[in-house]
Amino acid sequence: MRVSFRAKLMTIVGSAALAFVVILTVSAVTASRVDAQLTAIQDRHLPKIDLEARLDAQFDRLQRSFQDAVAAHDIDALERTRSIEDALLAQLDGARQVVTPADLDALRVAIEDYYAAAHGVSRRIIDGETGEALVDRMAVMQAKQARTRVLLKETTRFNRAELTEAFAAAKRAQVAASELRLGVVIACLAFVVFLSLWLSRGTIASLDSLATGLARFGKGDFDKSIEVTTSDELGDLAGHANAMAKSLERVHGERERTAWLKTGQASLAEELRGELEPEEVARRATALVARHIDAPAAAVYVLASDGSFRLFGRHAYAAGDAASDAAPSFRPEEGLVGQASMIHDITVVTDPPAGYLRVRSGLGEAPPTAIVLLPLVHEGRVTGVMEFALFKPWSERAAELLVSVRESIAIAIEVARARSAMRTLLAETQEQAVRLSTQEEQLRATNEELEVQQEELRHTNDALTLQTAILETQRRGLEAKNVEVEDARRRLEEKASELTAVSAYKSQFLANMSHELRTPLNSMLLLSQLLAENETGNLTAKQVEFAKTVHGAGNDLLALINEVLDLAKVEAGKQQLRVEVVPLRDIADRARRAFEPLASRKGLALVVDVAPGLPEEIATDRQRLTQILDNLLANAIKFTEHGEVALRFGTSQAGTRLAIAVADTGVGIAPEHRERVFAPFEQVESSSDRRYGGTGLGLTIARELASLLGGELQLESVFGKGTTFTCYLPLDGPTQPSATRSATPASGVAASPLQRAESVARSVLVVDDPERFHASDERFAGKKVLLVDDDMRAVYALSAALRAKGLEVVVADDGRAALTALGAQPDVAAVLMDVMMPEMDGYEATRRIRAMARFRTLPIIALTAKAMKGDRAKCLESGASDYLEKPVDVARLLTMLYSWLTRPPIVRSDQP
Ligand code: ADP
Repeated sequence: MRVSFRAKLMTIVGSAALAFVVILTVSAVTASRVDAQLTAIQDRHLPKIDLEARLDAQFDRLQRSFQDAVAAHDIDALERTRSIEDALLAQLDGARQVVTPADLDALRVAIEDYYAAAHGVSRRIIDGETGEALVDRMAVMQAKQARTRVLLKETTRFNRAELTEAFAAAKRAQVAASELRLGVVIACLAFVVFLSLWLSRGTIASLDSLATGLARFGKGDFDKSIEVTTSDELGDLAGHANAMAKSLERVHGERERTAWLKTGQASLAEELRGELEPEEVARRATALVARHIDAPAAAVYVLASDGSFRLFGRHAYAAGDAASDAAPSFRPEEGLVGQASMIHDITVVTDPPAGYLRVRSGLGEAPPTAIVLLPLVHEGRVTGVMEFALFKPWSERAAELLVSVRESIAIAIEVARARSAMRTLLAETQEQAVRLSTQEEQLRATNEELEVQQEELRHTNDALTLQTAILETQRRGLEAKNVEVEDARRRLEEKASELTAVSAYKSQFLANMSHELRTPLNSMLLLSQLLAENETGNLTAKQVEFAKTVHGAGNDLLALINEVLDLAKVEAGKQQLRVEVVPLRDIADRARRAFEPLASRKGLALVVDVAPGLPEEIATDRQRLTQILDNLLANAIKFTEHGEVALRFGTSQAGTRLAIAVADTGVGIAPEHRERVFAPFEQVESSSDRRYGGTGLGLTIARELASLLGGELQLESVFGKGTTFTCYLPLDGPTQPSATRSATPASGVAASPLQRAESVARSVLVVDDPERFHASDERFAGKKVLLVDDDMRAVYALSAALRAKGLEVVVADDGRAALTALGAQPDVAAVLMDVMMPEMDGYEATRRIRAMARFRTLPIIALTAKAMKGDRAKCLESGASDYLEKPVDVARLLTMLYSWLTRPPIVRSDQP
C-alpha cells in the first residue's frame, strides 16, 4: 500500500499534537482541583482574619458619632449616625460566607438593639433631660453595648485547625495532580516515539540509496540507476533522478559527438590554412578526414576541365595496393567514382567484392569492410569525389562529419585552383607590365618626336595664318573686283537685253513683212492656179501659159519668204527645239520616200545606207533634222545631172558623233566658193545664170539648224566631180539651248510678238497641191458651209476652192456676224472658224454657237496659227470639233470636212 511521506509526517505530527492536548487537559483538570482547595481557603478562612478588626472599627466609629452629636447637641449629626449603622450592617452582610447565618442574625439584632438604645439616650440628653430615668437608661444602653461587643468577638473568632486542615488537603491534591501529569506525559511521549519509528522505517534506506545514486550521477556514472523500494515521494524522486540521469547521459553523448565533429572540422580548417597548391589541399584534406574517421586508406578525385574526375591525392596507399593500379581518372557514371559523382549523396559499399582492395600494413593485410564514396558538392555541383576504405563498421557520426566538411573541401580545392590560376595570370600580367613599360618608353619617345613635329606644325601654322591674312586681304580685293565685275556684267546684260529687243524688233519686222507678202501671194497663187486650170475654157493657150508662169513665180516667192522667216527666227535664236527619240530608220525611209521620185525623174540613183553598229535611234528634233537633210538632198539632186545621190548614216572618226553625209556626183563647188555657199543669199553661179533656181538661204539655215542641234555642217567637194555635205550630230542628243534661244513659252497666252507675227504670217492658206481638188466632188454637192474670217483675201481664196468642190459657202467677217448668219440659215452643215478676229474672236463665237442646243453637234473646224499650241487646246475647250493650222492645207481641209459631214452627230463629251 502506498503511504505518502506527507501522510506519515502528518500522522506523527498529529499524534504528537494529540498527546500534547491530553497532557494539557490532565494538567488543567488537576490544577483546577488544587485551585478549588486554595479558593476555599481564601474564601472561607482568610476574610474572618480581618473581619473582627473592621467590624470593631466601625462599631467604634458609631459610638464616637453618638458622643460627638451629644456633645454638640446637634440633632442633625445624630440623625447622620444612621448611615454609619447602615454601613456596619452592610459590612456584616458581606461576611455572610464566612459566618454562619445564625451568628450573623444574633449579631445584627444586638447591633440594632444597641443603636436604638444609644439613639434614645442621645436624644434625651440633647433635649436636656436629666434625672434617674436617664441614668437608668444609660446603664441599659451600656449593657447592650457590652453584649454587642461580646457577640462581635465570638462571631469573628478564627479557627486555626480548620485552616491547617484545609491547607493539607490542598497539598495532597497538588501532589496527586503532579503524579497524574507525569504519567500522562510519559505515555504520550512513548506513543509518539513509537509511531514515528514505525512510520519512518525504510525512508532512511531509500534516502541512502538515493544519495549514493546521485553522487554517482554527479561523477558522470550513469551505468546503474538508483533502486528505491518505497512507494512514496522518495520513490518518485529516485524515478526522476534516473530519468534525469538518462537525459544527462544523452546530452553527454551528444556533446561528445559534437565535440568530435568540431574537432574534425577545426583540424581540417587548420590543416588547409595557408596558400597551398590544389593537390596539396586535396591530399591534406583526404588524410585528415581519413584519420578522423579511422579510415586506413583514402583517395580523392577532382573534376578536371574535360569533365572527368582526376586522381588528385592518396592517403596510406602503398605501392601494389589494388587502388594504386586503378585508373587515375573516371568519366561521369564510370566506375564507383563516376557513379558517386552523379548522385549528391554519400555512397557506402559494405563488404566490397573480394580483391577490390586490400589494405596492407607492416604487420599484415586485410580487405576493408566498407568503401565510402563522398561527392564534394559546391553550389549544387559535384566538383570532386573522396573515397575511403574502412575496417570499422560505418557510423552515423562519420557520415555527418563527411557531409559537414565536403563543401569546405570543395571550396578549398576550388580556391586553391583559382589561386594557382591567379598566380599564373599574375605572372603573365607582370610580364605584360614589363612589356607595357617598354612600349610606354617607346611611346614616350614617339611622343617627344610628335611634340617636335607639333612645334614644327605650330610654326607652319603661324606661317599659314599669316598667308591666310594675306589671302583674306586679297579676297577682299577680289570681292571689290567682283562687285565691279558684277556691275560690268549687269551693264552687259542690259546691253544684251537691249540687243535682244532690237533683234526681236527685227524678227518681228521680218515676220510682219513675210505675212504681208504671203497673204496676197497666196490669193495670187490660188487664183493663178484656177486660171491655169481654165475650167470654163474661155482662156487662150497663151493666157493659160501666163497664168502658169505667174503661179510658178509666186511659188518661188513663197518659198523665199518662208526661208527668210526661218532664217530670221534662227538668227534671233528663237527656234525652239522639240527633242524626241528619233529612229534613224524613220529618217532614212522618209528621205527615200520623198526624194526617190525626184531623183528617178532626173535619171539619178538614190542610195540610202545606214552603217551597221549604229545606235537604233538618237535624241534630236526630228523636224529640224528633216529640214537640214531635205535641203541637202534637194541641192544634191538639183546640182547633179548624172550618177547618183547618196544618203549615208555613219559615225565621225572619233566615233563620238553621228555623221549623216549627203554625197552627189554633180557639179561640185570650187574651193574659193566653199565658205560663200553658207552665206545668206549667196549662190555660186552668177545671178544671170539662174538655171537652178533657189534663194541662197537653204545652206545658211541648214548650218544654223545643225549648230542648234548641237552639231555642225561640213563640206567637202571636188569641183566638177561631186560634193559631200556631212551633218555631225551628238549621239547623246543636243545640249539644252541657252535661255535666250528658248525664251519663247509654249503657251499662246503669253506669246511673244515674234510668235504672234509668225502665226499671222502662217495664217494664210497654202495651196500646195492644186491638182488634187480641181474637180467638183459629188460628196459635197449642195452642202452649205459657213466660213468666218475677217481677212477677205483668205475668205476669197478659201471660198473659191470650196465652191469649186460644189459646196455652198456663206461668209461672215466676225463672230457676231457668224451667229446672225447661223440664225438666218439653220441648214448650215459645217462652220470654218478663224480664231483671230476683231469684235468677237473665234473662241467666243464657238462657245456661243455651242450654247445653242440645236448646234450642239454642228461640226466647227477652227483655223489656228501653227505655232500656237495653246490655241489648239483652247479651240477644243471652247467647243470646236476639230482644228486646222494656217496656212490651210486644202486637201486636209476637204478630208476633214468630208469626215465631219458624213459622221453621225456625236455630242462631245467634254461639252457643257
Ligand atoms: P539655193 O536655194 O540657191 O540652192 P543654197 O544655199 O541651198 O541656195 O545653195 C547655195 C549655193 O550653193 C547654190 O546656189 C549652189 O551654187 C551651191 N550648191 C549647193 N549645193 C550644191 C551641190 N550639191 N553641188 C554644187 N553646188 C551646190
